[in-house]
Amino acid sequence: MHSSVIGKIEKANRYARETDRITFDRLSLTFRGDNDTHRVSLDADAWQCNCHYFESWKTCAHVLAIQKIMGQMLPEAAQTSPFPAAPEGAAVGETASA
Ligand SMILES: [Zn+2]
Repeated sequence: MHSSVIGKIEKANRYARETDRITFDRLSLTFRGDNDTHRVSLDADAWQCNCHYFESWKTCAHVLAIQKIMGQMLPEAAQTSPFPAAPEGAAVGETASA
């Protein structure tokens, strides 16, 4: 293999571990919840979810889960939710959603 290709692969492997280099400006995904499948999106630091709970609270278990997974790869304004920090393992919102 050409040495420049090897260099790119090595760089990619390093970048893949340095996730603070990455910020997702937009997201669009399908979330298979316990009871239903939902559409979750992020655009201009604003979350959307089509679950019933999100309509009232502007966040939900689906958004919280994505925030947990993506962490610092989200824009700063999109990393936090209006909920107080929930204890690890607490089922925030899921019981009240569809
Ligand atoms: Zn939701």
